[in-house]
Amino acid sequence: MTLQHVLRIENLQANVGPKEILRGIDLEIKSGEVHAIMGPNGSGKSTLSHVLMGKPGYQVTGGSVHLDGEDILALPAWKRAQAGLFLVSQYPIEVPGVSLEDALNAAFETGAKDASGLHENVLREANELGFPLALLGRSLNVDFSGGEKKRNEMVQLAVLRPKFAVLDEIDSGLDIDALRDVSKRVERATNDDQLGVLAITHYSRLLKELRPDRVHVLVRGEIVATGGSELAEQLEKTGYAEYGITEDLKEAIGADIFGLPR
Ligand code: ADP
Ligand code: MG
Repeated sequence: MTLQHVLRIENLQANVGPKEILRGIDLEIKSGEVHAIMGPNGSGKSTLSHVLMGKPGYQVTGGSVHLDGEDILALPAWKRAQAGLFLVSQYPIEVPGVSLEDALNAAFETGAKDASGLHENVLREANELGFPLALLGRSLNVDFSGGEKKRNEMVQLAVLRPKFAVLDEIDSGLDIDALRDVSKRVERATNDDQLGVLAITHYSRLLKELRPDRVHVLVRGEIVATGGSELAEQLEKTGYAEYGITEDLKEAIGADIFGLPR
């Protein structure tokens, strides 16, 4: 039996400079669960993912994040990764001179994990995820298309087998087929490895493939509603109007809610 892990976010507050972005987020994700966060542009979704991973530039002004009781916010980013957190960033970073396998080898070495079979694993996952094998020897994400970057991040996730993954708009840049491949792989990880998932998205399309246990609506740095998958479908129809996101506000923040023309 797999051990049950818990990622617990309590009253998390964070600023960028003087600007308050996260205003008290509470979330608890257990192994094998899929939680979705939906919200308009600028509501703080990416900020939440960055604060969880320890990206510089954000000030945590209150609250806590614990992984199996360990205070994650006290750790540098690489130790959070070792503790079992993985982020598929909305904008994956380019790493000149480092190939996918170099990066994975380094991660296994730092974590004192057995890297034997790594090459075979990478090939198998790349095949399954439709990541072009010709790109495996190239610098990580450099000159990759949007879709290739997302698939490449997914290969890393599949090989590293973290406890929890934060997927920030993994559906952006993916066509329908790619979205299905990626969603299926994530879904399988939640079953086989009991991966816990925090999936950030604008669209319920992703959530049709990757069926969430819980859907949370993030507006202006606060979770204003939580429900089952029916909440995602409702949002697709009604947008965020009932949460006070009006046409005027959309205009002001440049929101492209559900891709509808403004
Ligand atoms: P989302 O991912 O939900 O679209 P973000 O978390 O990217 O939203 O951004 C939330 C708010 O924080 C926005 O108003 C954005 O302009 C601001 N913000 C985020 N990161 C920075 C930054 N590094 N510098 C200045 N403002 C930022
Ligand atoms: Mg974002």
